[in-house]
Amino acid sequence: MINMMIGFFKDYFKFKEAAKKQQRWIEKYCEKNNYVMNPSWMMATNLKSNLCEMEATFGKRYCPCFEPSGDKELDKKMMCPCEFVEDEIAEYGTCHCALFGPADLSKEQWKASSQRLMDEYQVPKNIKDGVLDTRGMIMDPRRGLPIPDAMHQVKSTLNGYKGKSLKVIVEREQEAINLKEIAAYRGYGFAQEAIDGAIEVALTFES
Ligand code: SF4
Repeated sequence: MINMMIGFFKDYFKFKEAAKKQQRWIEKYCEKNNYVMNPSWMMATNLKSNLCEMEATFGKRYCPCFEPSGDKELDKKMMCPCEFVEDEIAEYGTCHCALFGPADLSKEQWKASSQRLMDEYQVPKNIKDGVLDTRGMIMDPRRGLPIPDAMHQVKSTLNGYKGKSLKVIVEREQEAINLKEIAAYRGYGFAQEAIDGAIEVALTFES
């Protein structure tokens, strides 16, 4: 929990200015669609920071909860605000990431959807001896992508991580490509090699 909070405030200060740009389009989008942004300051701030990092890393405003899939059509649909909003509001009360919900959503419904999201992402990670195996997570039925995906597993592992390197096993080439982009953006060393039916990525950090 403490590492999560450190990561939250680090991103909050890093993206404080850039988040203002996110806030502007979010307000316009909400007004046009009779939605509101998550009323929890922490949730909304975290999602805006994630949007900023997605944009800074991949050059496009992808959903803060899913890494790019490599499928151009799907990735287009996943630009925030994504094409799944209405459908997910009907199912969860909010969009998948609990950024947007209808203006009349109750406090309890916001809390329930935010908790659903946290439960989805705060699952035990398969990490042993400096190797994080990201495979085997449940799949999101709309996007056909894992929850949490490799990128989110790596990012949360690195919150408070003290090691000088981390090996990450990913299933798909696109996940390795995304980790390479993240490494470039964050200034990590990056290497990858094919292993039995998967890819092993090595991330290295300056001491
Ligand atoms: S689920 Fe919500 S936050 Fe994610 S892309 Fe769709 S609208 Fe944006």
